[in-house]
Amino acid sequence: MSNHTGQDRDDRIRRLTRRHVFTSWAAQGGIDPVPLAGGEGAWFWDHLGHRYLDFCSQLVNTNLGYQHPRLTQAIHEAADGLAMVAPAFTHEARAEAAARIAGLTPDGLDKVFFTTGGTEANEHALRMVRGHTGRHKVLSAYRSYHGGTAGSMALTGEPRRWGAEPGMPGVVHFWGPHLYRSEFHAQTPEQERERALEHLRHAVAAEGPTLIAGIILESVVGTNGVIVPPDGYLAGVREICDEHGILLIADEVMAGFGRCGEWFAHQRWGIEPDLIVFAKGVNSGYVPLGGVILSNAIAATWDEVPYTGGLTYSGHPLACATAVAAIDVMAQDGVVEHARRVGAEVLGPGLRELGTRHAGVGDVRGIGVMWAVEMVTDLQTKQPWPADRMKELHAACRAEGIWPLVVGNRVHMVPPCVITDDEAQQGVAALDRALAAVEDRTT
Ligand code: PLP
Repeated sequence: MSNHTGQDRDDRIRRLTRRHVFTSWAAQGGIDPVPLAGGEGAWFWDHLGHRYLDFCSQLVNTNLGYQHPRLTQAIHEAADGLAMVAPAFTHEARAEAAARIAGLTPDGLDKVFFTTGGTEANEHALRMVRGHTGRHKVLSAYRSYHGGTAGSMALTGEPRRWGAEPGMPGVVHFWGPHLYRSEFHAQTPEQERERALEHLRHAVAAEGPTLIAGIILESVVGTNGVIVPPDGYLAGVREICDEHGILLIADEVMAGFGRCGEWFAHQRWGIEPDLIVFAKGVNSGYVPLGGVILSNAIAATWDEVPYTGGLTYSGHPLACATAVAAIDVMAQDGVVEHARRVGAEVLGPGLRELGTRHAGVGDVRGIGVMWAVEMVTDLQTKQPWPADRMKELHAACRAEGIWPLVVGNRVHMVPPCVITDDEAQQGVAALDRALAAVEDRTT
C-alpha cells in the first residue's frame, strides 16, 4: 500500500517537474530527474524505496551527509530566533560563523564576506582584486569551473562558458598542470610542474604583469577532472604572483571543507592565497551559503570608502547558523582527518586496484574523498568512452546501489566526508561490478 502511495507521489513529482521546473545545465526536453524522498548519513532514497549509497554528495557539497541532526537542529533554532537579519545589522550566527571560518586560515586572513553560493563569491573576489590593485586583468585556468554568473562564467575554462560569451573583458586563460592529458608533453609530475609554471610565466609576461590584478585557481580542480596539482605547483604560482604584485585567489568551493582531507585543499601544500572562495561544504549546503575570505590588507582598501557590492542575504541567519554547526561538528568529530584517511587507505587504494583489472580505466586520481576514474577506449590514445557508454555505466552503478557523479568520460567518486570505511569499500565493489556489467555488454 505504502509503495502504491510512493508510486503516486513519484509520478506526480516527475510530471510537475517536467512541466514547470527549468533545470540547470540540462536539455529540458529529455530530463526526468529522480524525485528524492529522504536520506541519512551517506545514503539517500526515492519514493519507491530504492536506496543509494551516495558517491556524488548531491553536487559535491553534502560533506556531512544527509539530515545531520546537529545541522537540522541549528536550522530549527535559527528559524525560531530571528529568521532574517539584513547586512546592515549583525547577529550572533553571522559573527560566529565569520570568526570560525577566519579561524581556519592563517593570521592576516581575518575577514569574511558572505554570499549565497560559490558563483557570487567569485564575482566578489574578482571585484575585490580589481578594486585593491587598480588593475583589470585576471588569469584563470582552462579546465576550470568557477560558477554560472557573468564574471564567474568568464573565469570558467571549459565549454560551459561558451553559451555565456561574449564574456567579461580582461579574463585570460592559461593551462594548468594535468599529467594524464599534459599540454606540455611531460612524462613526470616534476616536468609537468616546471613546464606549467614556465607557461604561466610566459602568459603573465605576454599579458603585461602590471595589468594583472589576480590569478584564480581551483586548488584541486573539481568538475573538470579531479586534477591534483603536482607538489610545488601552487608554491610556484604564489611566487609568480609575489614577483609581480598579483593577488592569488584560491577557489575552494568544491575542494574545501574536508573534501580533499584538509579544511582548505591548498593547505596541503603550505601556501597562503590572498583570497579564499568557499561555498558547498561550509554547511553541507543545507541552506545556501558561500563567501570570500580576504586578507586584512585587501579588506583595508574599503576602510574609508564603501565597498561597491552587497546582497540582501549576505550572512543570512539560517545559513550562518548551519555553518557554525557544520564547522563545530567537523572539528569535534575529526571529519577532515577522517576524509583524508578514507581517501588514503580505502578509496584511493581500492579504486586504483580496480583500475588494474578493467581495461577501460585509463586513470584513477584523487585525494581525500574526491576521486575520478577516467574511462578510455584505448590506453595509448586515451580516446574517451562515448557518452552513451558512460550513461550505461551510470545506470549500472545505480543498479548496484551507488550513485556517483558522471562527468564526461569520468566517474567521480565523491562521497560525503563522513562515509565509513565499510561504505567506501562497498562503493568500490559496486563500481567494480558495474564496470564488469558494461564491459560484458560491449565486448
Ligand atoms: N567554483 C567551483 C570550483 C565549483 O565547483 C562551483 C560549483 O560547482 C562553483 C564555483 C560555483 O558554485 P555555485 O554553484 O554555488 O554558485
